[in-house]
Amino acid sequence: MQEKDFPHEFPCIRCGDCVPACPVRLDPRRLLLHLREAHLLAAQREGVLDCAACGRCDAVCPSRIPLMQHFVAAKKEIAVAIAQRERALAARERYRARQLRLSHDEEVREERHHEQTANAASADAVAAAIARAQAKRAARRGTPPA
Ligand code: SF4
Ligand code: SF4
Repeated sequence: MQEKDFPHEFPCIRCGDCVPACPVRLDPRRLLLHLREAHLLAAQREGVLDCAACGRCDAVCPSRIPLMQHFVAAKKEIAVAIAQRERALAARERYRARQLRLSHDEEVREERHHEQTANAASADAVAAAIARAQAKRAARRGTPPA
């Protein structure tokens, strides 16, 4: 947030009058400083999200700085950033879950393939054993195997 966003206000003279005016014990002067320097995260750490938008700091500010407006705008900006971050996290989580599902499906497919191959091999082995037994019986009887 830059001064150009609020072009009609005077500079902060650091009188500190806004500090005791705040019912939620924020330091509007410091919050303003962070926002002027575009340090949204610092303003968040300083408690801007707790601002009750009561306007008491505005009322005592000799520079007539619309402090509350600054803080409300910052809260909106932070809310948008949080929502974007949450959407990004949710998308990443969905992608991760999809990759896990695909890799699980691939494992199941491979397992089935191995089972089918093993079953086919054992069926061949059984058929070969039966054929050998029939050949032996036929040899004993002197007749060709069935
Ligand atoms: S508008 Fe926010 S910062 Fe200003 S006095 Fe009220 S709660 Fe405190
Ligand atoms: S009351 Fe206004 S001028 Fe005084 S410190 Fe607070 S913001 Fe700055």
